[in-house]
Amino acid sequence: MISCPICHARLQADDKINGSCNRCKNDLQELFHIEQESHQWLRLGYYYLCEGDREKALDSVATALDLCDTRMGRLFFLFIQKLNFD
Ligand SMILES: [Zn+2]
Repeated sequence: MISCPICHARLQADDKINGSCNRCKNDLQELFHIEQESHQWLRLGYYYLCEGDREKALDSVATALDLCDTRMGRLFFLFIQKLNFD
Protein backbone atom coordinates (compact mmCIF):
# COMPACT_ATOMS: atom_id res chain seq x y z
CA MET A 1 0.00 0.00 0.00
CA ILE A 2 1.65 3.16 -1.19
CA SER A 3 -0.85 5.70 0.04
CA CYS A 4 -3.47 5.94 2.77
CA PRO A 5 -6.85 4.76 1.41
CA ILE A 6 -8.59 7.42 3.52
CA CYS A 7 -6.63 10.64 3.08
CA HIS A 8 -4.32 9.54 0.22
CA ALA A 9 -1.17 10.68 2.01
CA ARG A 10 1.93 8.81 0.90
CA LEU A 11 2.65 6.17 3.55
CA GLN A 12 6.09 6.01 5.14
CA ALA A 13 7.93 3.04 6.62
CA ASP A 14 7.07 4.34 10.11
CA ASP A 15 3.36 4.22 9.29
CA LYS A 16 3.56 0.47 8.73
CA ILE A 17 5.44 0.06 12.01
CA ASN A 18 2.93 2.23 13.88
CA GLY A 19 -0.05 0.70 12.07
CA SER A 20 -1.64 4.06 11.33
CA CYS A 21 -1.47 6.88 8.83
CA ASN A 22 0.91 9.64 9.84
CA ARG A 23 -1.41 12.35 8.50
CA CYS A 24 -4.99 11.34 9.37
CA LYS A 25 -4.03 8.91 12.21
CA ASN A 26 -6.56 6.31 11.07
CA ASP A 27 -5.82 2.75 12.12
CA LEU A 28 -4.56 0.83 9.08
CA GLN A 29 -3.27 -2.25 10.92
CA GLU A 30 -5.87 -4.59 9.45
CA LEU A 31 -5.13 -3.35 5.92
CA PHE A 32 -1.38 -3.76 6.45
CA HIS A 33 -2.04 -7.27 7.72
CA ILE A 34 -4.11 -8.14 4.64
CA GLU A 35 -1.41 -6.70 2.39
CA GLN A 36 1.21 -8.79 4.17
CA GLU A 37 -0.91 -11.91 3.83
CA SER A 38 -1.26 -11.20 0.11
CA HIS A 39 2.54 -10.97 -0.20
CA GLN A 40 2.84 -14.34 1.51
CA TRP A 41 0.48 -15.88 -1.05
CA LEU A 42 2.53 -14.34 -3.86
CA ARG A 43 5.69 -15.87 -2.40
CA LEU A 44 3.91 -19.22 -2.16
CA GLY A 45 2.93 -18.84 -5.82
CA TYR A 46 6.57 -18.20 -6.69
CA TYR A 47 7.56 -21.29 -4.69
CA TYR A 48 5.03 -23.49 -6.52
CA LEU A 49 6.14 -22.04 -9.83
CA CYS A 50 9.74 -22.98 -9.04
CA GLU A 51 8.51 -26.46 -8.11
CA GLY A 52 6.81 -26.73 -11.50
CA ASP A 53 3.28 -26.84 -10.10
CA ARG A 54 1.49 -24.36 -12.34
CA GLU A 55 -2.01 -24.94 -10.94
CA LYS A 56 -0.99 -24.42 -7.32
CA ALA A 57 1.00 -21.35 -8.38
CA LEU A 58 -2.06 -19.91 -10.14
CA ASP A 59 -4.31 -20.69 -7.15
CA SER A 60 -1.86 -19.03 -4.76
CA VAL A 61 -1.52 -15.90 -6.86
CA ALA A 62 -5.31 -15.75 -7.34
CA THR A 63 -5.70 -15.83 -3.55
CA ALA A 64 -3.11 -13.05 -3.26
CA LEU A 65 -5.08 -10.98 -5.78
CA ASP A 66 -8.33 -11.59 -3.90
CA LEU A 67 -6.69 -10.10 -0.82
CA CYS A 68 -4.83 -7.25 -2.51
CA ASP A 69 -5.17 -6.57 -6.22
CA THR A 70 -1.86 -5.21 -7.44
CA ARG A 71 -0.49 -4.65 -10.91
CA MET A 72 2.52 -6.83 -10.11
CA GLY A 73 0.27 -9.63 -8.89
CA ARG A 74 -1.86 -9.47 -12.04
CA LEU A 75 1.26 -9.53 -14.24
CA PHE A 76 2.60 -12.50 -12.28
CA PHE A 77 -0.73 -14.31 -12.75
CA LEU A 78 -0.71 -13.65 -16.51
CA PHE A 79 2.94 -14.71 -16.73
CA ILE A 80 2.16 -18.06 -15.08
CA GLN A 81 -0.86 -18.54 -17.34
CA LYS A 82 1.30 -18.05 -20.44
CA LEU A 83 3.99 -20.49 -19.33
CA ASN A 84 4.10 -23.78 -21.15
CA PHE A 85 5.21 -26.63 -18.94
CA ASP A 86 4.98 -29.24 -21.71
ZN1 LIG B 1 -4.46 8.93 6.07
